[in-house]
Amino acid sequence: MKIISLESKPGLAEGEILREKAKPVKDINDEIRDTAREMVQAMHRGKGVGLAGPQVGLSRRIFVTHADKDEIRVFINPSIIWTSQEETACEEGCLSVPGVWAEVKRPGKVKVQAWNEKGRAFTLEAAGALARVIQHEYDHLEGILFIDRIGESKREKLLARLGKSKKTR
Ligand SMILES: [Zn+2]
Repeated sequence: MKIISLESKPGLAEGEILREKAKPVKDINDEIRDTAREMVQAMHRGKGVGLAGPQVGLSRRIFVTHADKDEIRVFINPSIIWTSQEETACEEGCLSVPGVWAEVKRPGKVKVQAWNEKGRAFTLEAAGALARVIQHEYDHLEGILFIDRIGESKREKLLARLGKSKKTR
């Protein structure tokens, strides 16, 4: 699995792969560990707090996070098994949608089940910044971008300002 660098693909937001539902990782082996390591490097280079497979041209269910005051985490074949009823609004950006920031409402807490790069299953309850990053990255595995979660008129305005394609789903 060769990942592409974010730097070489500035227009990735329009890429087809970002709109696809990513496929499960079949085997947690050295190859996927290398991929995870490269994704962490790309996330840090881009000064992001999370990065998902589809953002680096890899349509697989894997993402990495490094939320504020948290450790680096790898999520493979994740499922969000619970979300809190109360929602919080927070400004989000995305390495695949450069230059766009918008307030997005999401559940404040989530419980996620996944495997790490060592092949160990874990369940994690997250709140605050980590809960938000997990949901944003999980969306990437479903082909959803954060701009899909804001109002349509707000989205049109944002994208028009950027002179980008209005094609969102
Ligand atoms: Zn993103």
